[in-house]
Amino acid sequence: MTRRFSAGSTLLVATHNAGKLAEVQHLLDPFGVTVVGAAEKNLPEPEETETTFVGNARIKAHAAAQATGLPALSDDSGIEIDALDGAPGVYTADWAETPSGRDFVLAMTRAHNKLEEINAAFPRTARFCCTLVLAWPDGSDDVFPGVMPGQVVWPMRGDQGHGYDPIFQPDGYNVTFGEMDRWEKNKISHRADAMRKFIAAYFD
Ligand code: IMP
Repeated sequence: MTRRFSAGSTLLVATHNAGKLAEVQHLLDPFGVTVVGAAEKNLPEPEETETTFVGNARIKAHAAAQATGLPALSDDSGIEIDALDGAPGVYTADWAETPSGRDFVLAMTRAHNKLEEINAAFPRTARFCCTLVLAWPDGSDDVFPGVMPGQVVWPMRGDQGHGYDPIFQPDGYNVTFGEMDRWEKNKISHRADAMRKFIAAYFD
């Protein structure tokens, strides 16, 4: 990988999620890069039809790079629970779908019930994964995987964060992501791990 970003470059972040866009903007602030989001460019959200994090991240990044002619960064993330053979994995958000929108209490309850059904041993090891893909307008890409290992706990604890945070206790901590200060979580998370690799590759 020989390409670098320099001050004045523009990076498209292929997400419609304002929180993710703000996180990337914050991390790249020191490098003088202009960060623009998918909404600003009126990009559609492509369907995530692959069965791996990297496959889905590639779909989003390449669609955005082709549509805009800009280098485009996307991420795909989720939780893998060992006793469930890695489920929900790429289907992490799908487990929360209901006819009236996403319900993550339902998704967490579903994960817990499946673990109870098979009488899974403790600790119920799991990991949050985040795969970042930077797609270049010429069709090439670079991949940056990030991981945070931990365990699934029950009952849910904490009301910070989002998604499955209340049932995920990262290794080395006795609090869940849901009980952790947002900034502390952002320093140790799977997304932070992948972002560190991304920054080291192009900016440092
Ligand atoms: P996507 O990468 O936006 O498709 O999201 C995948 C799903 O993984 C999200 O809807 C969340 O439920 C879950 N997820 C990803 N990262 C986290 C996290 O840091 N905490 C809790 N849930 C997460």
